Amino acid sequence: MPVRTRSPSPPFCILLQVENLVIIGSGPAGYTAAIYASRASLSPKVYCGYSKGGVPGGQLMTTTEIENFPGFIDIAGPDLMDRMRAQAEKWGSELLTEDVESVDLSSRPFTIKGTETTVKANSIILATGATAKRLGIPSEHEFWSRGISACAICDGASPLFKDQEVAVVGGGDTATEEAVYLTKYGKHVHLLVRGPTMRASKAMQERVLANGKITVHFNTEVEDAFADAKGAMAGLRLKDGETGEVRELAVKGLFYGIGHNPNSAFLEGQVETDAAGYIKNRNGGPWTSVEGVFSAGDLHDTEWRQAITAAGSGCQAALAAERYLTSNDLVVKCQLHDEDQMKAEEEEKAKAAKEGGKGDDAKDSNGASLEEEFNLYADKHRGQFALRKLYHESDRLLTVLYTSPTCGPCRSLKPILNKVVDEYEGRIHFVEIDIAEDPEIAKAAGVNGSPTVQMFMNKERVANLPGVKMKSEYRKLIEAHLKEGANASK
Ligand SMILES: Cc1cc2nc3c(=O)[nH]c(=O)nc-3n(C[C@H](O)[C@H](O)[C@H](O)COP(=O)(O)OP(=O)(O)OC[C@H]3O[C@@H](n4cnc5c(N)ncnc54)[C@H](O)[C@@H]3O)c2cc1C
Repeated sequence: MPVRTRSPSPPFCILLQVENLVIIGSGPAGYTAAIYASRASLSPKVYCGYSKGGVPGGQLMTTTEIENFPGFIDIAGPDLMDRMRAQAEKWGSELLTEDVESVDLSSRPFTIKGTETTVKANSIILATGATAKRLGIPSEHEFWSRGISACAICDGASPLFKDQEVAVVGGGDTATEEAVYLTKYGKHVHLLVRGPTMRASKAMQERVLANGKITVHFNTEVEDAFADAKGAMAGLRLKDGETGEVRELAVKGLFYGIGHNPNSAFLEGQVETDAAGYIKNRNGGPWTSVEGVFSAGDLHDTEWRQAITAAGSGCQAALAAERYLTSNDLVVKCQLHDEDQMKAEEEEKAKAAKEGGKGDDAKDSNGASLEEEFNLYADKHRGQFALRKLYHESDRLLTVLYTSPTCGPCRSLKPILNKVVDEYEGRIHFVEIDIAEDPEIAKAAGVNGSPTVQMFMNKERVANLPGVKMKSEYRKLIEAHLKEGANASK
């Protein structure tokens, strides 16, 4: 059997023709599997996902406080996931911020095709979790991100919903948590429950019923949403499930909290699933219908669906993968980065941290010092002062990222967008706006949720991209507008 090496520094493997293990997904299941597998010197490659089945970090990136993960009395979901990611990286997992588009499990080693890379691996852990379901009402497309949202935590702080009446549909833990969260921003929250009772935990039901800013409507189905004379969402048409009576409810927002679909479509039927697409396990453990392919977390769990159960099954999957590789003599020896390469990476990280700091300089509550500190030639900025200055004075393409403090997808997008911006050094200006800190500028820009990216050229808005998009989409737009600008100035 090949000799294993273990090192106290991150033992990234380079030049492996075939990976020991590829982990697909970066929720609690994927990161836990990565921690165990990297500590076992398997040097796993982790496809963290990007936009297909949720953001890197998974579902907990869209929640606020977690109060039931052992070891943390309470912690914000995105903070917990940041810690898991750091722990996986510390032990040598290689993280790729991209989606897996397809896998070929018909021949060995297996092939995993991502949006940017293709790799071969002797084993795979599937940990792609689940994605929020949509209701599919007729006007869903019309009001999507303009009143209808699947993420209260991401979009609740939007000026669109501030001091307005909003509705949440669903009766489980997700819907009840979203309803409570939205009371921070909205005037009143209507929780629309299809049946005569809620499915949420008893504690969540009690919190909702005790909250004076929440009204629970039982036996209530959403038929459609309607607009006011200006085309903005004005309310919902609701149907009483018992009497069939239809009535209207005036709300400015509708948030979905109606459950999830497993992210297994990319497997194209190569691994056995149930009718809904959840992976079917063998022998009550992480084994799937394909030898060498394991599963973990919400992708196979139709019952427990918790961060800790996902993490536990990620551990099982990693241990099972290690046993499988060892017993089949498939462990590939890891070749470590040489010292020069490690040093170069450290320098790059330090440079990126410094660049981020530069952008922060513009953030100051003192107007006078903001004016003094503002540097038109710096690429990256923060806050509305910088945005207003650049809007009027910049002759570059101005790219603005609108975020909010509790928005997990924003955290995932920030480093990605920063990297894209770095590719255009000296050619574009980048500003980050916190919509909770600067709500008026977000309102003026017509931003209805976070993250949103807008681009401006010569005081004209040339792009509006709500949500997390592929890196290539941002690049494509930047390049098109830079080219347009260059042609115009000829
Ligand atoms: C609002 C909300 C609140 C919650 N609160 C709690 C709580 O307080 N406590 C608790 O224990 N649990 C809570 N949960 C449940 C918990 O979040 C899930 O059980 C847990 O996240 C499941 O982990 P997972 O790793 O299986 O999947 P997920 O967290 O869903 O992660 C899936 C990962 O797979 C990636 N992915 C998907 N498709 C692809 C692809 N094609 N290629 C590459 N990557 C892909 C995604 O980007 C993501 O990184 C909450 C869930 C929600 C929605």
